[in-house]
Amino acid sequence: MCLTFRTLAVEALREKTVERSATEADAFGTRRLRDAEAQFDRAADQLELGTGLREYLRQPRRSLEVAVPVQLESGEVRTFAGFRVQHSLTRGPAKGGLRYQPMASLDETKALAMGMTWKCALVNIPYGGGKGAVRCTPGSLTEAELERITRRYASEIAPLIGPGRDILAPDIGTGAREMAWVLDTYAAMMGGSFGSPVTGRPVVVGGSRARRTATGRGVAEVARIAARHLQLSPPVRVAVAGFGEVGRSAAEDLASDSSFLIVGASDISGGRLDPHGLDIDVLSACSKSGGPLIEAETGEAVPLDAVLEASCDVLVPAAVAGVVNDLNADSIRADVIVEGANAPTTHAAEEILLANGVVVVPDTLANAGGVIASYYESVQEANGLPLSEQEMVERVGRRLDTACSPVIGLATERGISWRDAATCIGVERVAEAHLARGLYP
Ligand code: NAD
Repeated sequence: MCLTFRTLAVEALREKTVERSATEADAFGTRRLRDAEAQFDRAADQLELGTGLREYLRQPRRSLEVAVPVQLESGEVRTFAGFRVQHSLTRGPAKGGLRYQPMASLDETKALAMGMTWKCALVNIPYGGGKGAVRCTPGSLTEAELERITRRYASEIAPLIGPGRDILAPDIGTGAREMAWVLDTYAAMMGGSFGSPVTGRPVVVGGSRARRTATGRGVAEVARIAARHLQLSPPVRVAVAGFGEVGRSAAEDLASDSSFLIVGASDISGGRLDPHGLDIDVLSACSKSGGPLIEAETGEAVPLDAVLEASCDVLVPAAVAGVVNDLNADSIRADVIVEGANAPTTHAAEEILLANGVVVVPDTLANAGGVIASYYESVQEANGLPLSEQEMVERVGRRLDTACSPVIGLATERGISWRDAATCIGVERVAEAHLARGLYP
C-alpha cells in the first residue's frame, strides 16, 4: 500500500515536472516567435509591403504536430511531442534542420522555420524555409531509443517531406546518424530510392565530407569579413560561447589564422579563459571526446557568463537561443557578435547592444554556411557528380562573401542594423518570387 502510494507520488511528481517543462518550453517558444515576427514586421515596414503580402509571408504554409510514441529499453512506452513546420515553399522546397531538445515547441519551430526562409533567400539558394523538432533530452536516451524516436518521427512526417517538398538537415542534438535513419525510413515507406529527404547524411550514403564543419567554417569566414569591415586590429580576440559542432569548427578555423586568437570558450559545463590565447588542440580534443570543457587543461576555469562577458573583440554565441539577453547585454564587451547559433540574441538585448555601438552579425548570414553546403550536397546528388571537400568549402565561402556585401551596403546606406538589412534582402527576394508566381487558385 505504502509502496503503491510512493510509486504514485513519484509518478505524479515526474508528470508534474514534465508538464511544467512543457509549459516553460511553450512559453519560451512563443517569445521566440514574437521576436521573429517583430523582426519580419520591421523588414516589411522598411520594404513598405502591403497588408495582404505581409500576412501571406508571415504565416507558415504548414505546421504539423505529431505524437512520437516509443518503447524505451525499460519496456515503458513514452510519447514525445514532434513538430515539422514548412514556413515557405515559394523559392523551392522547405529546408531546415531537425533538433532534439527539451525546450522544443511548435512556436519555436515556427520561428526557426521563418528564419530559414529569409536565410535561404539571403544566400540565394533555391529553397524555402522549414524546421523540425522533437521535445526530448538526447543525452538521457540510448542509441536504440534515439533510433526508434527518429524512425517513428520520420514515418509520421513522411507524407510531407522528400526532395522537391521538404528536406531535413542536422541541428542541435542530431547529426549524420539521425539523417541516415530518416533517409532509410523514408525510402522504406516509399518503397524505393527517390532522392533524399535529408542533407548532412553520412558520406557513404551521398553526404559530403565538408558538411559537418561547413556551418562553423562559414561563421569563421563571416567573422573575418566583419573584422575586416570594422578594421579590428590583429590579433582579433574571439570568445566562443558554445563549443559544439558549430562553435568548435569556427574556433578551429579562426585559430588557424594568425590574425585571430581564441581567448574564451564554453560549453554547458562552464568556460575557459586566457587573454593570451587558449590552446585550441586541447579544447578540441576535450570537446570531441565529449567534454566537459570546464576540465580542458588550458587557461582558467570560469562560469558560463564570464565567457559571454569576456574582454574580446568578437563574441561567437554558438549554443542555444536567448543566451544574450536584456540581463547581460550591457555587460558584453565585444565590438561585434557573430551569431553562430540560431537566435542567440533576444530583440531586447540587440537594442541595448546597438545603443552601445556593438555590431550584431545575424544568424541568417553568420551560420548560413551549413545550409549552403546542404544545397551543394543536393546539387552533387542531382548531377551524380561528387564535389571534393575543397571544392565544397570554396563554393560555400564564395557564396557567403557574395551574400555579405549587400547586407553591409544596405545597413550602411540606410543606417539600419545588419539584421534588419539581412532580413530586408531575404524578405524582398521571397516577396518578388511570390509576386512572380501569383496566387493559387
Ligand atoms: P551542438 O549540440 O553540437 O553544440 C551545442 C553546444 O552548446 C554544446 O557544446 C553545449 O554544451 C553547448 N551549450 C548549451 N547550452 C550552453 C550555454 N548556455 N552556454 C554555453 N554553451 C552551451 O549543436 P550545434 O550543431 O553546434 O548547433 C549550435 C547552434 O548552431 C544551434 O543554435 C543550431 O541551431 C545552430 N546551427 C547549427 C547548424 C549545424 O549545421 N549544426 C547550422 C545552422 C545553425
